[in-house]
Amino acid sequence: MNMHSLPPSALRGEGMTSQRARDRLAAKLMEEGITDKRVIEVIRNLARHHFIDQALHSRAYENTALPIGHGQTISQPYIVARMSQALIEHGIPDRVLEVGTGSGYQAAVLAALVPQVYTVERIEELLRQARRRFRQLGITNLRSKHDDGKLGWPEEAPFDAIILTAAGDSIPLQLLNQLRPGGVLVAPVGSPSQQMLLRLRMGEDGDFTQEELGSVSFVPLLGGIG
Ligand code: SAH
Repeated sequence: MNMHSLPPSALRGEGMTSQRARDRLAAKLMEEGITDKRVIEVIRNLARHHFIDQALHSRAYENTALPIGHGQTISQPYIVARMSQALIEHGIPDRVLEVGTGSGYQAAVLAALVPQVYTVERIEELLRQARRRFRQLGITNLRSKHDDGKLGWPEEAPFDAIILTAAGDSIPLQLLNQLRPGGVLVAPVGSPSQQMLLRLRMGEDGDFTQEELGSVSFVPLLGGIG
């Protein structure tokens, strides 16, 4: 198993309750069809309660999205697992860009699976909190910035994989342009009431193939910075 970058502090829970709750969550994800053992192990070991407000700690290991303030949510663990699995299924990407840091949980899961993560968030306060969590957990293979993620991170492009954790009515062209040939992009696309999780794979010739991974419900991908 490749957990080269998840430090011991990120693996510790708050006593047995958390570890038992995480074991139950891992079992639930397998029941629901997550097959990648690397993804299951990271979620089993990563303390999701670090990424949410203390008042919600008792619900941290439920398979549900939870509010993180500013009208945003930490994604449902099943969705985090599904997207992570889709991203690494055909090989571990070297450098991954995430659009929508939010709580930082999805980024931390990715940081345990791949060598280098870049994440962009448009709401400064959320990014500030996420950065504090990354520091506390000792995650070092992750860089973040406050910006409109629709623009990607041109200075660091191209990426081997790109993941969007907010839904737009289409995938911004600037992001497609920052994907390396052979790369993979996973994103929810559609209206607030009807969204499909898509995986795009770019062939070495630059052509895209598209797969539908299922219906999802994400917060909207907005423009500009908050
Ligand atoms: N990956 C997050 C999910 C957070 S919800 C987690 O694991 O918690 C989606 C996030 O996308 C929100 O924080 C929202 O502010 C952010 N977002 C929406 N549009 C964005 C944009 N254009 N650029 C960057 N972030 C964006």
